[in-house]
Amino acid sequence: LVLEEMERLSLEQVVFCQDRASGLRAVIAVHSTRLGPALGGCRMRPYATEQEAVLDAMRLARGMTYKSAVFGLDYGGGKAVIIGDPAKDKSAELFRTLGRYIGYLNGRYITGVDLGTSVADMKEIAKETIYVTDTPGSVMATNDFTAEMTAYGVYVGMKASANAAFGTNVLSGKTVAVQGLGKVGLRLCRYLYEAGAKLIVADPDASRVSLAATAYGAVAEDPERIAFARCDIFAPCALGGILNETSIPRLACRIVAGAANNQLGEEWHGELLQERNILYAPDFVVNAGGLLITAREIQGGSEADMRRGVEAIDRVLRTVYRFARQTGIATSDAAGYLAERNLARA
Ligand code: NAD
Repeated sequence: LVLEEMERLSLEQVVFCQDRASGLRAVIAVHSTRLGPALGGCRMRPYATEQEAVLDAMRLARGMTYKSAVFGLDYGGGKAVIIGDPAKDKSAELFRTLGRYIGYLNGRYITGVDLGTSVADMKEIAKETIYVTDTPGSVMATNDFTAEMTAYGVYVGMKASANAAFGTNVLSGKTVAVQGLGKVGLRLCRYLYEAGAKLIVADPDASRVSLAATAYGAVAEDPERIAFARCDIFAPCALGGILNETSIPRLACRIVAGAANNQLGEEWHGELLQERNILYAPDFVVNAGGLLITAREIQGGSEADMRRGVEAIDRVLRTVYRFARQTGIATSDAAGYLAERNLARA
């Protein structure tokens, strides 16, 4: 029941897109435009059911609203999802058709790259609408700049977290366990290595592990055990849902700060982390580097501007930690509350 779910999640608008000629089946969810146009990438996945796709779009869109709001950006949250296999079902016409649908929204929603989509796909969308980022030639589309800035943001967030937990933001000599050495994880290792941290890493892809070992002196751990490695900071940079009632009792770190989306299995798991005295850097704050530079690029910022923009993560995390300390609530709840407060002010 779409309308009921929209009401539950306070969603403004859901657009269903169907086009037999191009094979497009997509959903655009605009969660909120209270603070400004809804920003959020376009995901392509072979969703098992239509319901799964609709719910994913709605929840991801809401997550984007919170991400923008907690940073005080003048953007709302949205998301587009295409039902299909990115390896088999892509065509120029498919993305052009989606572009026309985005165009009909007249700027209420601005899209970009997400899981399963690429810069080449955004190029097709851009033939139909101006409301698209990550197009060829943009700063973000060059050399995986979004992943680079996401990694930089996680690094900035780790320092802010170390400051709150250890009373110093110096990471030299600290041990960091990095789960996942993809586009973000491996770049994060570079920042940490340059800061003098010791690295423990895991990835099912052995070539990524040996890259980290050779370049950054990282020690390999089993992907099944990395979350429980004895360390100062655990950095989830692979999957969501990894912090839950089974894993949290076994964590052997003081801080969790990583790039993965939706790290908490459920919202109340934030309180479990708090009970264990593990400082949790809320994922939607610490992994916001990509969003922060997208917002700047739309406004025509330079690369240096963007790096400075990402440093907002330090300020916002400090505010979240202070608020959590003063009120006694979990850091994840504190971040949610601050986002809601900014939204309510709009
Ligand atoms: P990626 O696909 O490039 O990398 C993910 C890596 O995790 C891969 O190397 C994969 O082999 C590894 N992996 C899979 N299962 C694992 C396991 N059980 N243990 C250890 N490693 C495992 O993705 P990415 O772009 O680096 O993103 C990583 C996470 O950060 C994702 O959750 C993503 O949603 C989130 N994120 C990414 C960005 C970005 O700019 N790329 C921005 C915000 C959030």
